[in-house]
Parts: sequence; C-alpha cells; structure tokens
Amino acid sequence: MNFNTALLHINNPCEKSTGATLTPIYQVSAFAQESAEQLENVFNNRAPGFAYSRISNPTIASFENRMCGIEKGIGAVACSSGMAAVTMSLLNILQAGDEVIASAGLFGGTIDLFSDLEAFGITTRFVKHVTAEEVEPLINERTKAVFAELIGNPSLEIVDLEKISKLVHSQGIPLIIDSTTATPYLINPADFGADIIVHSTSKYINGGGNSISGVIIDSGNFKWEKIPKLEKYRKFGKFAYIASLRNGIWRNVGGCLAPINAFMNSVGMETLGLRMERCCENALALAEFFESIDGISVNYPALPSNANFPLCQRLFGGKGGAIVTIRAGSKERAFRLINGLKLATNATNIGDVRTLVIHAESTIYAHSSDEQKQNAGVFEDTIRISVGIEDINDLKDDFGKAIENL
Ligand SMILES: *Cc1c(COP(=O)(O)O)cnc(C)c1O
Repeated sequence: MNFNTALLHINNPCEKSTGATLTPIYQVSAFAQESAEQLENVFNNRAPGFAYSRISNPTIASFENRMCGIEKGIGAVACSSGMAAVTMSLLNILQAGDEVIASAGLFGGTIDLFSDLEAFGITTRFVKHVTAEEVEPLINERTKAVFAELIGNPSLEIVDLEKISKLVHSQGIPLIIDSTTATPYLINPADFGADIIVHSTSKYINGGGNSISGVIIDSGNFKWEKIPKLEKYRKFGKFAYIASLRNGIWRNVGGCLAPINAFMNSVGMETLGLRMERCCENALALAEFFESIDGISVNYPALPSNANFPLCQRLFGGKGGAIVTIRAGSKERAFRLINGLKLATNATNIGDVRTLVIHAESTIYAHSSDEQKQNAGVFEDTIRISVGIEDINDLKDDFGKAIENL
C-alpha cells in the first residue's frame, strides 16, 4: 500500500458488529464481562477484551493499531499528551543512576522534563548536535538511552539517523526519536534505525488542533534483553518494551488518552498525506519568498542554502516539513511583524491546518537559559511559523504586507 491508501486502510477494518467504517467513540470507563472468570482472564491478559479505559478501550486501540501500521512498528501505546508519551517512553527503561544522552536543541517541554528527572536520579548529558562525534565520548556503562528530535523544534536541525543509530546500537543502547515535526509523511524512522518513535499527535497527526495526545511506537528492531529495567518482561521477547509499558509505568501513572481524542486523531490522520503535501509546498514557497526579502533571514531545511539541505534530501526526499523560522532583526520588529499579520494566527501550537506564528523567545522559551535558547536556535528576533494549508498567495500577501509595514 502507498502512503495515502495506508492512512485509510492499514489496521482499520470495519467494525464487526455494526459495519461502522471507523471505530466509534466508546466513551465509557468500564466494560462489563459475563462472568467473574471472564473478567479474571481479561484482567490477566489471558483473553481478549476490555476492562477499564485507563488500560484499554476499543477507540483508543483502533488509533494505536493504525499508528503502529503507519510507522511500521510492532506495537503502539497512546498517551494523554505528547509530553506524556516522551516521559513514558523514557521512564519505561530508566532507573535511578541511569544516564540519557539528548540533544540540547529539544522542544522546551522536553528540556524541562529532563531537569525534572534529576530528582529521580536520572541524569541527562546534552550534546549541541546529535552526531556520532559528539555522542560517542559521552557514552558510558550508565547510558541507557539516546533521545533526539528528528527535526528539532524550532531549531530545524536534522539528525543523521543512520549514522547515530549505528553508533548507539554498537553500544547496546536504544535510540528514542521524537518524530513529531517530521511525521510519517516525510519518513518512517524505523526504516533508518530508530528503536522507539514518539509523536505529539496533538500536532500533524490530528491536524485540526483539537486534541492533546501522544503515541509511543516500538519499531521492533531493538533487543531489549540487555536493559536491566525490562528484566521482568524478558519472556515477551521483542514485545518486552511494550509489555512493560502496558503493565507497568504507563498504566500506573495513568496518562491514558481520552476515547474522544483517539477518535479525533483517527479522523485527522486520514488526511495527513494531503495536508503535509500542501504544507510542505506552502512552507517551501514561503521560505523562498522570505529569502528574497532584505532584513529577514530564514531557516528551512529544504532550501538549498540551508546547512541541513543534504540530510533533508537524503532522509526526506527533499521535503522540508511544515515549520519555517525567520529572524526579523530585533524583538521589536518581530513583535510588530506578528501584530501586523491578519491571517496567520498568533498561537502556541504547530501542525494545525491554519498557519500559526509565535515569538518563541518570550513564550515557549521564557524559562530557558540563554544557552538553552541558543541551542534551540531561538533568538530575540526569531518567529516560528507553522505553515498551514491556506492558498499560498494569501499567505505571501499576509506576510508581505506585515513586513512592508515594518
Ligand atoms: C508539542 C511537542 C511535544 C509535546 O507535545 P504535547 O502534545 O504538547 O504534550 C513534544 N515534542 C515536540 C517536538 C513537540 O512539538
């Protein structure tokens, strides 16, 4: 199946009992079973079925199965948010005394999370760039994961997945990739060596900006036997990571997805291919437009002038994703530019069908140190643009007028 067909049809059978073409919203907390024996079996994973929606629910399971198929994984677990997915993906394999190596240019919430984990004895070593050269010297016997965003948000730096996965696998360490900004439209990270893939599905998967949510997918490539935290789950073989999540930290923390949000995502993901095709086209056209304007500098990986252009070609076939950042010259000019926009909406989100802008430094990075901001490519004059599906001439007109008025 090709991508747009797969979005509709992979792991998405009509419902057996009714023929419903999408799994409906099972907005209930509990599922009754016919006998005490049957509930015992469902509870103990000895029979299929549902008991309680924090643990499993048909609407959520349907979304998980579809995401698993799209990302070519062996199992997926949906979470209440992207941050819950990032957190659970790590805590599933980490214990006190362990270390993570992560990119210093991560999404602000993830950087903050790593400092929260210090209180639990988990230390993060940050690298400016997730390259074999920078990561290798930091690996030691305590290193239990390498974590990176495939396309940094908002640095837009691209990780050389093949090189980095080769290195970490040679040391028996799993590679966890946040692929939110890349989306399965640009790449299946599993094909390039990622072991665990996480998405904030609040963004491109949902597409309409209507449901906070996240998902964790196991590519099936990593041999989990050597991870001490998963010892209890060895009997599950390649499913050890997913079994541990489902029976351990994810279930007990309770960061489950709401059935209605799973449904909204199932609807949204069906148009991911069409939306991303338009978003990437619009983003490139806007980036070229900004490149032609004096006083504005632009960062977009699909521009031949961009440092990430070769990786963008090799990993994504030249598609650059839907985020463009520009620098306006000063904070004052950035604010005036944002305030002058009529179409593009000033809001803190990405992956919506409508174009969104934000002054990152004064908002998402307000609590970050100067060094953290620099690493994330956030300067006082940076505007992050999440490019939507509007007609490109309207977008150019909107940004053009706002820039002229500077
Ligand atoms: C938004 C985002 C997150 C966090 O997701 P939420 O759904 O807001 O919790 C994590 N990583 C990246 C790259 C994001 O853009």
